[in-house]
Amino acid sequence: MTAIDPVLEAQLEATAEARHASYLEFLRIPSISALPQHAADCHRAAEWLVSELNRIGFEHAAVEETAGLPIVYADWLHAEGAPTILVYGHYDVQPVDPLDEWETAPFDPFIRFGRVVGRGAADDKGQISMHLRAAEAFLATRGKLPVNLKFVFEGEEESSSVNIPIWLREHRARLDCDAVIISDTGFFEGNAPALTLGLRGLLYTQIDVSGCASDVHSGGYGGIVENPANALARIISELKDRDGVIQVPGFYDDVVELTPAERARVAAIPLDENELLDVTGAPSLHGETGYSVLERVGYRPTLDVNGIWGGFQGDGSKTIIPGQAHAKISCRLVPNQDPATLFERFKAFVLDVAPPGVTVDVRELGSGQPTVVSADSPVALAAARALEATFGAQPYLIRGGGSIPVAEVFDHVLDRPPILLGFANPDSRAHAPNEFMRVGNYETGIRTLCWLWDDLAEMGAKGESVA
Ligand SMILES: [Zn+2]
Repeated sequence: MTAIDPVLEAQLEATAEARHASYLEFLRIPSISALPQHAADCHRAAEWLVSELNRIGFEHAAVEETAGLPIVYADWLHAEGAPTILVYGHYDVQPVDPLDEWETAPFDPFIRFGRVVGRGAADDKGQISMHLRAAEAFLATRGKLPVNLKFVFEGEEESSSVNIPIWLREHRARLDCDAVIISDTGFFEGNAPALTLGLRGLLYTQIDVSGCASDVHSGGYGGIVENPANALARIISELKDRDGVIQVPGFYDDVVELTPAERARVAAIPLDENELLDVTGAPSLHGETGYSVLERVGYRPTLDVNGIWGGFQGDGSKTIIPGQAHAKISCRLVPNQDPATLFERFKAFVLDVAPPGVTVDVRELGSGQPTVVSADSPVALAAARALEATFGAQPYLIRGGGSIPVAEVFDHVLDRPPILLGFANPDSRAHAPNEFMRVGNYETGIRTLCWLWDDLAEMGAKGESVA
């Protein structure tokens, strides 16, 4: 195959206007999962999806309640003998502040200069829309899909994803499939097609240091009691050395080192470091010595202070010894690091290096396991072929620096390491003002999905496993 079925292509060309109108309609629903005042909007987005899925011809489309925001499920399972693919996306979006930086209201989306602009355009409503439209093209022209599809659309990805692991476990049998495809990632710098083969895990902690029962006079008590802010600074300075190497004993014990083949593959990906400086505004890049920038992002763990506070923060001076100081510290983890094990090591080290005269409390605020997929798994190879056939370039195989905690849960609960096939342009401004999706990524990506479903069906017909 080199292009998608001309019948599908003709249908897609004839329905572009309706497709874009529906995409904008979905974006108009302000389904911000983190803000309780938008809970009704999240339900509305879920119901909007169910009615679209019913209209297209999916079955068992339902808003499934959880202890938090609902999950949308639907399936179409009449492709006998063909593989069954579970597709994940999320219909919730990030909050929109700072509002004054948006060109127009974030939930008043528009299409201009080849961009769909609005909150959720790329992350992740646009990508859900692509799956709906690809399935619709098949059902409208052939009356059937080439593969069996199960759609799972979450409503809490941007706030916590606390309920989907429970839901996945409860509905395990119903979710049985040959492969899981998550469409919530994007292309490589320069908008080059890419397939994400791994995501980092996360360990999020808070350190609370207490000294005196309240702030005290730094003249009257300075020199005779320990200062929690000084103590916290000392603890933090022990966590990493000047080469960026994390000092927590055993921190790197379970890190899987890059193979020479992986190193070569990463080295072949062109990366413009000046562009990174432009994007970040940082005066220079900095990180663990001995590893390239892309290796540091995809294959190495990190430890970063996310926030630090305590004592007097106002204008002018106030001479106190603060009663408390706090820091939020998170680690991005890589295979095979386990957040629970690392938390114990981290906590022990913090308590060990803490100076006397203060009380130190270390808490875990959240975690997620890292996940990786083999570049040689049949469904990864098929996804790479589909991207090349439709976007005209072999995709880069990248490891993402971020985390999608549910990815590992699919692997764990369904025993299917998910493929991260996402289409967002890397300059999409996801989570930021003026989020956008390039119309080209959206349109060609729909063709990629059409191509992929036909290809996986062919593999099934030949008796090849896609799992
Ligand atoms: Zn997302």
